[in-house]
Amino acid sequence: MPSILRLDLAVVELPDYHPAAHRGRTVPVYGYCILHPDGPILVDTGVGFGNDLVDELYNPRREILGQLLQQAGIEVSEVVAVISSHLHFDHCGQNPALFNGPTVFLAQATEYETASRDPDYTDASWALAPEHQRRVVSGDEEVAESVTILATPGHTAGHQSVLVEAGARRVVIGAQMVWHADELADEVASVENVDPDPALQKAAIDSIRRIKALNPEIIHLSHCAAFDPGGALPTATDPMSERE
Ligand SMILES: [Zn+2]
Repeated sequence: MPSILRLDLAVVELPDYHPAAHRGRTVPVYGYCILHPDGPILVDTGVGFGNDLVDELYNPRREILGQLLQQAGIEVSEVVAVISSHLHFDHCGQNPALFNGPTVFLAQATEYETASRDPDYTDASWALAPEHQRRVVSGDEEVAESVTILATPGHTAGHQSVLVEAGARRVVIGAQMVWHADELADEVASVENVDPDPALQKAAIDSIRRIKALNPEIIHLSHCAAFDPGGALPTATDPMSERE
């Protein structure tokens, strides 16, 4: 089983109108690095630099991706792929650190389409890698030995998760398929994470059931401590106490 490092990429302050603000205004932003024999594979890159609106609304305290990787003995130039769970600003922000290099960027077609078309969806200058570096994913796809992208729509129509397996062992990087681990336990599509649109609500619950049916040892998340199917649920404050 390739090791998976959690990258504590940022802490943001949610504006009070944010649907998840009632669960705590201060929120971690995690990315992950799969230490694969073919080279490091990242899942999400956190909040980027140079977007005044993001800085004003979310007051991000960012770590520099390259420095976090270096602390783990990895050079940015070694990263073979960035899998974007989805292309919201807090998941693709430091993609530009890997532009114009050998890294391949993988996101679902609908994510690339929405990011290209809708200026409110994300910061396109972070989300859209140079075209020759983009790889459009349609549904599920094995991207390296024992590393498979699984479509987990719900939070967004093109949200995807990553399954890492070795023999019978399975770990899932579920990213923002849920906001908090308790939504995985309860199999609910929460208002903080999923639009009221009935199709997305249904998709989110189907995604949760699909991932749980794989019997993963652990499900890593973007904004919450990991979900351990056999263990206690993290409390809402756990992610922050790990950091501060
Ligand atoms: Zn999002």
